Amino acid sequence: MIVINVAVAVPLNKTFYYLPPENISPQDVVGKRVRVQLGGRFITSYALEITQSEDSNLKLKPITEVIDDDVVITDESVALAKYISENYVCTIGEALACVIPPAMKKPKRKIKDVEIINEESLPYGFSLTAAQKNAVDKINKSVNSNAAKTFLLYGVTSSGKTEVYLHAIENAFKQNKSAIMLIPEISLTAQFVEIVTKRFGSAVGVWHSGISAIEKYNLFMKAKSGEIKIMLGARSAIFTPFKNLGLIIIDEEHEHTYKQEQKPSYDAREIAFWRAKRNKSSVVLGSATPSLESYKDALENKTELINLPERIDKKPMPKIEILSLKNKPFGGSLLTIETIRAISNVLSKKEQVIVFLNRRGYSPSIMCKNCGSVYQCPNCSVSMSYHKAPESLRCHYCGETKKLPAVCPVCKSKEVSVFGAGTQKVEDELGKLFPKAKIFRLDGDTASLKENYVKAYKGVKNDRYDILVGTQMIAKGFDFPRVTLVCVVDADTSLYLPDFKSSEKTFQLITQVSGRCGRGSIPGNVILQTRHPEHYAITHAKAYDFHSFYKEELLQREKLFYPPYCDVAKIAVRNRDEQKALQDAEKLFIFLDGLAKSFEIHVKLLGPATPYIAKLHNTHRRHIIIKGDKKNILKLAEFVQNYKQLPGTHVSVEIMPSDLI
Ligand SMILES: [Zn+2]
Ligand SMILES: [Zn+2]
Repeated sequence: MIVINVAVAVPLNKTFYYLPPENISPQDVVGKRVRVQLGGRFITSYALEITQSEDSNLKLKPITEVIDDDVVITDESVALAKYISENYVCTIGEALACVIPPAMKKPKRKIKDVEIINEESLPYGFSLTAAQKNAVDKINKSVNSNAAKTFLLYGVTSSGKTEVYLHAIENAFKQNKSAIMLIPEISLTAQFVEIVTKRFGSAVGVWHSGISAIEKYNLFMKAKSGEIKIMLGARSAIFTPFKNLGLIIIDEEHEHTYKQEQKPSYDAREIAFWRAKRNKSSVVLGSATPSLESYKDALENKTELINLPERIDKKPMPKIEILSLKNKPFGGSLLTIETIRAISNVLSKKEQVIVFLNRRGYSPSIMCKNCGSVYQCPNCSVSMSYHKAPESLRCHYCGETKKLPAVCPVCKSKEVSVFGAGTQKVEDELGKLFPKAKIFRLDGDTASLKENYVKAYKGVKNDRYDILVGTQMIAKGFDFPRVTLVCVVDADTSLYLPDFKSSEKTFQLITQVSGRCGRGSIPGNVILQTRHPEHYAITHAKAYDFHSFYKEELLQREKLFYPPYCDVAKIAVRNRDEQKALQDAEKLFIFLDGLAKSFEIHVKLLGPATPYIAKLHNTHRRHIIIKGDKKNILKLAEFVQNYKQLPGTHVSVEIMPSDLI
């Protein structure tokens, strides 16, 4: 009997046999997505191969539907799915659902392509600096000789990494090779996409979560056939099924968006390395603040470091001044006299200011002055933020919105007041201090983010705004020549989060936001307000001493046994019942501890611990952390995947999570 081996995206570690549908030859089924029935559900799955079954009594269901006309599953996608399933604790079916999106849809009739005319010359035709040229030469040489090298392009802010990328893509294109370029938050980088599309016309595809199922299908098939040669996109664009893949660029490689949190918790950089090895392609990781692990790899010559040590035209790096808030009482004005003077000075010269605070809303909490109770989200163990326009209390984790209580819900006192500051409060205060200045605020609260992003970009560029206030989304990417001052209202927002990466993230954020000024003809200045002026993340950021920061941070990580000195897995145990979450986490911990001991799997097990946010969306959470080398962690994590003794409790495993919070 001829049967078809199908990978189904369910957490059952096997493939399933189905009969080919009636009237369709088995050869026309394999390599395509199919719909099959499993346990009463219809699931989009992957027909892998034809097999002969000896058992003629076997009762098998037929495949319900063949979804694709053409083959979508390649040898590489199967091999890649195998790699993902072995390294990120999931099944082949779940991994394939990552590599080949189950949701993409074939259009009913052929869509006419929009004609894009290729431009003859490069729109970025100006000459490269010596450092840029050196970078381009090295990358091109590797691409042209299939040397499969990985480069870390470490270039300070405004050093012209983008031009290097464009020239490298241009070269790959001329060599008739394909290129993938990953950009964090692609929907917010319209300008770059426009440049590339203008240059390479219909050979470019843009892939992100915002495109439709039909667009996805079209892009996928065009990439597979070679009609598209360049794919720009967010994390999942790394799976673009190019055949002649010559170059993979990952811009801002330190960004956590390249790590998928849900199952399978893959890292796009790791997928890039795997694909590069298989296809003999070159990888470029670019950043002004490389991740610790990438920098360590470069220092150990596992990858090649390329430096762009200077800004374009030898413009100076902005001067960073630290203003200590150590003896300043909490409450009162958010800005010191020195900061206010500096802003006033810049505004009087008709230059522009960026004011940065990585916290949205008006205030992060409201507190009763009488009994000290803080108003908490009913669904999460976090305080609700006060928002002024429209006036409300909001949970930044689950979106719950409440009216501001007239009296304290605990003691009925009327003495309820806001505590701490967010971007709305900064905007308010700036408005009072500088009534003539035009201020624009950009953060996660501004409705229709994409439009506001464009509005902020064009407004500042065309001098319609004097001050731009915002959260981390104004910290990167923006290139405004007339911004000469950056004020960081509170440099400490992420410094003392209970996470091993908090210093690294603080250093990166300060460096990135500082890089937003002095990009034009006038040198820039940065003011950092902090209560921890002596912290090494802050002192090294001030000195632009990347190397010293990383050396010190690496020492800390080694001492505390954290990545990159070990690998880590985060196991999250979730239940709506707090007791059950706790009990099951303990049960799982004892199970894993026993396994580790009896099978002599050398790992360090921590927990079960109450995470920073213990309750989220009405679900209680406990964490178990496994530290050790990857092989051992995966061995143990595999047991978690197959442990079925916790009915009603959700257990997830994240390999190398971007945080342990
Ligand atoms: Zn009270
Ligand atoms: Zn909430």
